[in-house]
Amino acid sequence: MPETRPVYLPADIHTPDRDITHQHFRPGEHVVVLKGVAGGELWGDAMKVVTPSWHTPTDEDGWRLFDPSGGARSYITAHPRYLVHLSKRCPECLTHQQAMRRYLVPRIDDSDEAVDCRWYSLTALNQLVHIADAAAARSGR
Ligand SMILES: [Zn+2]
Repeated sequence: MPETRPVYLPADIHTPDRDITHQHFRPGEHVVVLKGVAGGELWGDAMKVVTPSWHTPTDEDGWRLFDPSGGARSYITAHPRYLVHLSKRCPECLTHQQAMRRYLVPRIDDSDEAVDCRWYSLTALNQLVHIADAAAARSGR
């Protein structure tokens, strides 16, 4: 019998409260959507900002992103608060990233394998939605 251990997945306490404007991002910029931890560091999907796009799950302005590892779903739409800048030293994104790291890394086993906290899902229309926004949409906010 392979040994299985229960994996505790921490809730994302930072992203839902993040205050970031739509204009904070620009087409062509490289961003990451933080999804968990790998090897004691934050882990996520690196993507490129393509063009403004309506984010239907939140009814707010979002961004169309290109995910080079997305296969058939390479183009997805995300809310600005899901995104963290990779392409430039950005104090706001850095602060958010540090808060995420302080919170998340100690809560997840120091394994080399990536642990996806499963905060995000994709709708049928390729809209990336955070679990907090999906819950808000279901309750009719
Ligand atoms: Zn930024």
